[in-house]
Amino acid sequence: MKISDFRRHAHEMVDWMADHLESIEDLPVRSQVQPGETLAQLPDAPPERGESMDAIAEDFRRIVLPGMTHWQHPRFFAYFPANSSPPSVLAEMATAALGAQCMLWQTSPAATELEQRMMEWLRDLLALPGDFQGSIQDSASTATLVALLTARERATGWAGNEEGLPAQGRLTVYASEEAHSSIEKGVKIAGFGASNLRQIPTDDGFALDPAALAEAIRADRAAGAVPAAVVACLGTTGVGACDPLAEIARVCRGEDVFLHVDAAWAGSALVLPEQRHWAAGLEDADSFVFNAHKWLFTNFDCTAYYVRDPEALQRTLTILPAYLASRETGAVPEYRDWSIPLGRRFRALKLWFVLRSYGAEGLRGALREHIALAEEMAGWIEAEDDFELVTGPNLSLLTFRYMPTSLRSEPGAPGPEIDELNERLLHELNDDGRIYLTQTKVRGRTVLRVSIGQTRTERRHVEEAWGVIREMARGL
Ligand code: PLP
Repeated sequence: MKISDFRRHAHEMVDWMADHLESIEDLPVRSQVQPGETLAQLPDAPPERGESMDAIAEDFRRIVLPGMTHWQHPRFFAYFPANSSPPSVLAEMATAALGAQCMLWQTSPAATELEQRMMEWLRDLLALPGDFQGSIQDSASTATLVALLTARERATGWAGNEEGLPAQGRLTVYASEEAHSSIEKGVKIAGFGASNLRQIPTDDGFALDPAALAEAIRADRAAGAVPAAVVACLGTTGVGACDPLAEIARVCRGEDVFLHVDAAWAGSALVLPEQRHWAAGLEDADSFVFNAHKWLFTNFDCTAYYVRDPEALQRTLTILPAYLASRETGAVPEYRDWSIPLGRRFRALKLWFVLRSYGAEGLRGALREHIALAEEMAGWIEAEDDFELVTGPNLSLLTFRYMPTSLRSEPGAPGPEIDELNERLLHELNDDGRIYLTQTKVRGRTVLRVSIGQTRTERRHVEEAWGVIREMARGL
């Protein structure tokens, strides 16, 4: 493609992008296509001769768009948000045009140094401990894996990397029964073995019970195991519970166990001084992760991973083959030694654009608005006889269920028919397309989650959602 043609198509694409964002509310939030529908429209083989960009753009609109779920839709209340913003998109455009692979300082000094500065900005914005040093990773799952690898190596005196795990005895890891599945995945990949992950019980607020944690560590040690890591969570995926960090940190310090904090979603809320009490104890943690790509208006992917001891992290991951040596080795940060892949995208640019465009004040205002909307919606749910607020709101996440009064009269906890009813309600809501919610289990029972955090979600969208939920539930 000639650059003159690229210029024309790029302008058309930008027009499409702006039109798309302006009219996104007219689209169903969750894609309405059936399995195989997109695949059936795609030829079996690539074209032999190049096709025109106009034809490709037309097929993008016709084939791909209907198969997209719109995470940037203001009535997206599913999972956790992956909220983007115009400054972030502009940075991603520049990043794509630069097309740089920023694995070493030398391969783009500005990428390394902007990352260094952005990690300092974010650390200070979230009031994280001043001696934390950060790097950008692709996902919280990867950051947690890196934390578990570091913990494993620390627990084995760095012998695990050299000798393999069979010689290291039984290493154990601890997280609450509400912890995200990425912890178990990391435990498996890092070679601990899933049977050595202890799922610690939670209290009435779904937060890890530190006394049970201390007991589990003591029991494992007495049985000859080596407790290697605890993963605490700020903002669990199910209901947004926050583990009591200060007490967990005290246990970890006493037992000399590595403490990693998974704040994938809730970490962004630490930009708010009034939410920082959740992070008390973080000064004693070894590492901390949060996803700027969840609730900080920065395109997926952009995970901030902080460590207290970068040398331990680098000692775990560094390998220096001759072909990667550079004159600056040892004199500048080489973030390839902080993460698993060698190749690195230039992710700091979008953070820079977002943080400068919003300003700290803009970020705080937007997050406070989401939290206030969740509180307001919780009040609406509580005011209805046939709905039950089950948890929260924890920050901007609440869970609820539909409990028609006819089924309320039964004794004891809600039974399977209530689960079934709420599962039907969820499918009908998402097939309708005006809103998108997802479900979880709370103490074994189905609830619907409302997670508020999309960039353009306003009060009217939450009101619309509540209207749709009531209408469809009562029409079941
Ligand atoms: N940890 C928690 C608490 C999460 O909620 C999630 C995802 O929602 C993750 C980890 C995994 O995040 P990622 O998709 O960045 O790996």
